[in-house]
Amino acid sequence: MAADVAAGLRAVRATLPEGVKLVAVSKFHPAEEIMAAYAEGQRAFGESHVQELDRKRGELPEDIEWHFIGHLQTNKVKYIAPYISMVDAVDSVKLLKEIDRQAAKWGRVVDVLLELHIAEEATKYGFTPDGCREMLAAGEWRGLEHVRICGLMMMASNTDDEVQIRREFNEAAALFDELKQRYFASDDSFRERSWGMSGDYQIAVQCRSTMVRVGTAIFGEREY
Ligand SMILES: *Cc1c(COP(=O)(O)O)cnc(C)c1O
Repeated sequence: MAADVAAGLRAVRATLPEGVKLVAVSKFHPAEEIMAAYAEGQRAFGESHVQELDRKRGELPEDIEWHFIGHLQTNKVKYIAPYISMVDAVDSVKLLKEIDRQAAKWGRVVDVLLELHIAEEATKYGFTPDGCREMLAAGEWRGLEHVRICGLMMMASNTDDEVQIRREFNEAAALFDELKQRYFASDDSFRERSWGMSGDYQIAVQCRSTMVRVGTAIFGEREY
């Protein structure tokens, strides 16, 4: 098992250009498998359930950089606020404000990404491009001193149509440029374009991803 994880991790790394950050998505995989990746030097891990993350964190080394990649309910922010490195999928101002409020209690500044909804699936969370523009134009985020908006995150449609996937990634990249220029031109923290999962991360990298979230290709299939 550990050998498989190490091999999976190496295979993914071998295909990533320098400068693209790998978040190893460990949801539903046990602490031992995370340790196998850790032993290979991996430090950034992504989880999508608060309870599961809390439990694993207690069993694993403290220098792991935890990313919360799933939909985060505002009433659960308080549990992860003391330690979370990045909330990758902020999908409302309400959530952004709650992360700010809870991070303040710990004297922390939490890195976040704004999640875009560009894919065709109706069930996905996130800001539409216009919703994202409006949120930033409204300006309330400027007063939040305990969150740092580091860029955008999105998931492409779950399809084999590479043309469509590419179109969605490119739309996100264009929006990134627009928002960077308009709101974050002098803010070096706003630099991440988080797209790409096991099935599409190589396309994502060609479409200017700076941060891929890869689970299955490292750890194998999840057992739910
Ligand atoms: C589960 C998940 C991933 C990883 O998916 P794989 O296909 O296993 O690589 C990436 N991003 C998010 C938001 C996820 O929920």
